[in-house]
Amino acid sequence: RSTEETLLAAIRTIVDYPKPGILFRDITTLLGDAKAFSLAIDELARPYGDAVLDKVAGIEARGFILGGAVAHRLSAGFVPIRKKGKLPHETVRVAYSLEYGLDEMEMHKDGVAPGEKVILIDDLIATGGTAEAAVKLLRQIGADIVAACFVIDLPDLGGRKKLEALGVPVQTLISFE
Ligand code: 5GP
Repeated sequence: RSTEETLLAAIRTIVDYPKPGILFRDITTLLGDAKAFSLAIDELARPYGDAVLDKVAGIEARGFILGGAVAHRLSAGFVPIRKKGKLPHETVRVAYSLEYGLDEMEMHKDGVAPGEKVILIDDLIATGGTAEAAVKLLRQIGADIVAACFVIDLPDLGGRKKLEALGVPVQTLISFE
């Protein structure tokens, strides 16, 4: 089996979740499969082995699981990007639109020092709205964003192009049309 086949086989698709017409790509089955989880972390980390990164920034909540493991693999620090109101110290905050209405995410002001090299991690990129908001936060505090990395790409929804238009290279492991 190729890497891609192993990862594809480890992801469960839930029909009509969280609402009718949506195919939800569930990565909990991948996380629970030791071989697939380890493969996903190795593949996400692979391009940055020689890059000497300072930080991995993970988006709440699935980006914490993947990002923590990738940070350890690359001997980098980990920084959480969270939904508003969860972080105890001084933060920077950005509003972004969800399907219905607005939400806000934030990170600690001192989570990344200006000029530090960072990769951004989440499980999946769809429209790219979530990742775009995270890019804005990281840039507000002067991070040097090396890449944004996802296990799953939904290319029809255009997220990769949105991030590339912001000058952020995008790495994905598998995609679902
Ligand atoms: P976007 O902002 O790119 O439209 O949506 C991506 C965000 O929504 C990510 O934080 C991702 O975790 C979540 N998301 C949207 N659809 C799915 C899905 O089918 N499966 C998973 N695991 N996450 C999803």
